[in-house]
Amino acid sequence: MRDVVVMGSGCAGLTAAIYAARANLKPLVIQGIEAGGQLTLTTLVENFPGFPEGVQGPELIERMRHQAAAFGAEFMEGHVSRVDLSRRPFTLEVEKQQIETRTLIVATGASAKMLGLESERRLLGHGVSTCATCDGYFYRGQDVAVVGGGDTAAEEALFLTRYANQVAVIHRRDQLRASKIMQDRLLRNEKVKFIWNSVVVDILDVAKGEVTGVKLRNVQTGEETVHACHGVFMGIGHQPNTEIFRGQLEMNEVGYLVTREGSRTSVPGVFAAGDVQDHIYRQAITAAGSGCMAAIDAERFLEAEH
Ligand code: NDP
Repeated sequence: MRDVVVMGSGCAGLTAAIYAARANLKPLVIQGIEAGGQLTLTTLVENFPGFPEGVQGPELIERMRHQAAAFGAEFMEGHVSRVDLSRRPFTLEVEKQQIETRTLIVATGASAKMLGLESERRLLGHGVSTCATCDGYFYRGQDVAVVGGGDTAAEEALFLTRYANQVAVIHRRDQLRASKIMQDRLLRNEKVKFIWNSVVVDILDVAKGEVTGVKLRNVQTGEETVHACHGVFMGIGHQPNTEIFRGQLEMNEVGYLVTREGSRTSVPGVFAAGDVQDHIYRQAITAAGSGCMAAIDAERFLEAEH
């Protein structure tokens, strides 16, 4: 029987593990499918306080992991396939193993959204990507496209200009949603071209097993055109990883967990931290902060029971 189990090993989960471990609660961290979370998919992080020269995302995560392990956190590979939060202790099933715990910290994060096209699914990993920092390198000197108009799309597009010959930002409206500073950077970059008021209706060419272009429809005129490119990056936002909690924890209409009074979810003893419950800030530092809150809330919850 565990006192604290942390689901997820990104910035939020690892910070929760550091705090819970320092409170002598010997937390078990179940790492999940995307171990290390979104920071492992980035390069230089320039806005994490304490690193004036910046720090590589994967290095920051590795350091947090070491810090948690040094204080006694335990780590388990694999992901949770089933949870029962209807009674305590809570039970989790991980790779056919049952784990019981008095408290649970959910830090399962959010994953990149897709358009839902069959061609997109078939060409994922063959020219379709959700992560410029992971795959941008493969498109040296080539033309690529980024779908979306928010900060994610802007960041992906800017990163891709390091490698690509041209980066087309395809957006369904004629105005970006991205923050002003990101918009300015995009507009100033000569490699970036905008395709406004357009949606991707197909990705070519499934028969060849590689991306040769995207079929676009102008939402104002209905006209369909093909934009030639070798890679297409999805930058249309994220989906919280909460499917497993459906019907058990309160969530909002798009699936983000609802937290109240700090990190408390709708089930006493279950706490949530990081992007799984935050669709507004979504920063490494806010995820870390909420991980700290969840660990303190779990500790106080256990204390009050004794
Ligand atoms: P957003 O929801 O802000 O933007 C998603 C974009 O994708 C929008 O432009 C949206 O269009 C478009 N979109 C969504 N669904 C579709 C679809 N099916 N087809 C075509 N286009 C679609 O998500 P982000 O991930 O960009 O940002 C989320 C939050 O994270 C924001 O608060 C952002 O500021 C923050 N963030 C900050 C970063 C930074 O500071 N460096 C980096 C990344 C994110 P429309 O505009 O028409 O709705």
